[in-house]
Amino acid sequence: MTDWLSFAEYSVGTHSGYVNIGDLPPLPFFVIRGAKDGPRLVVTAGIHASEYTGIESARRLAQTDPKSLSGMLVILPIVNMAGFWARSIYVNPLDGKNINRVFPGRADGSPSERLTHWIVENAMRGATAHIDLHCGDMNETLTPFVLFAKGDAKGEHMARLFGLPYAVASTARGHSYGAAFSIGVPSMLAEMDGNGLWTEPGVKGVLAGVQRIMADLGMIKRRGAKPAAPKILTMRVTTAPKSGFWHPAVKLRQRVKANQVVGTVSGILGEFKEKIVAGHDGFIIYYATSLATNAGEALFGVAVKADG
Ligand SMILES: [Zn+2]
Repeated sequence: MTDWLSFAEYSVGTHSGYVNIGDLPPLPFFVIRGAKDGPRLVVTAGIHASEYTGIESARRLAQTDPKSLSGMLVILPIVNMAGFWARSIYVNPLDGKNINRVFPGRADGSPSERLTHWIVENAMRGATAHIDLHCGDMNETLTPFVLFAKGDAKGEHMARLFGLPYAVASTARGHSYGAAFSIGVPSMLAEMDGNGLWTEPGVKGVLAGVQRIMADLGMIKRRGAKPAAPKILTMRVTTAPKSGFWHPAVKLRQRVKANQVVGTVSGILGEFKEKIVAGHDGFIIYYATSLATNAGEALFGVAVKADG
């Protein structure tokens, strides 16, 4: 176990420990300092605590051999520790907030806000690049894709290298990749697997993507062929108007037209049944699979052509 130090203080090798941030649950970290100097890549996972493919991929990435590494790999494998033990969906149980909606946080805020503030100031700031590893949540299924902040040209370059078929240019606020970009750190977020499952092909796909970016940054030797370019998209999310039963009527990657019925939300006693329609032409890139939905929660995302 090592303390969280200033990056220059770490010797060549693999260091790990827990960093104490006030009264928050100790945050696990790995710092791998390579035999040669070079870029610093920060990898976060477990911001959503039941998105296990990201977490397992981060854990495996920590096995990177320092002898064959140029630069430094900083890995925060489980950002939402309270949520990890609770197997929570979306939120940090300490304040009920979605950590990936409160970036860049604030020093005097709620637990999630203090956590994100710490990550931005202590892990991201001054880094060469950042990658955030996610997955469909316990109640979501998705087709693999990456996200980057619209306008982040280097983040888009990383997203194109990652090797997944779709890349979403996002204008959403409060996300890790937007916070990184706003302090000059190129960033992207990967989505792979879902429904509380992590798969070996999913983890291998995520690791291959991270390693392609590491090779591109000059941190490791180039491995593998350049992947096919992803389709660049935007995403429109539809949320539940009321709490109740959610019955989706679509499949992943199914094409939908604006105003096409995608499913229904109905009352527990059958007191209402609302048709939920797509807001745009596109295809279903993810959707919630749980029978239960709360008002305001995401039901599905429609991927739309970036210029559409
Ligand atoms: Zn997530």
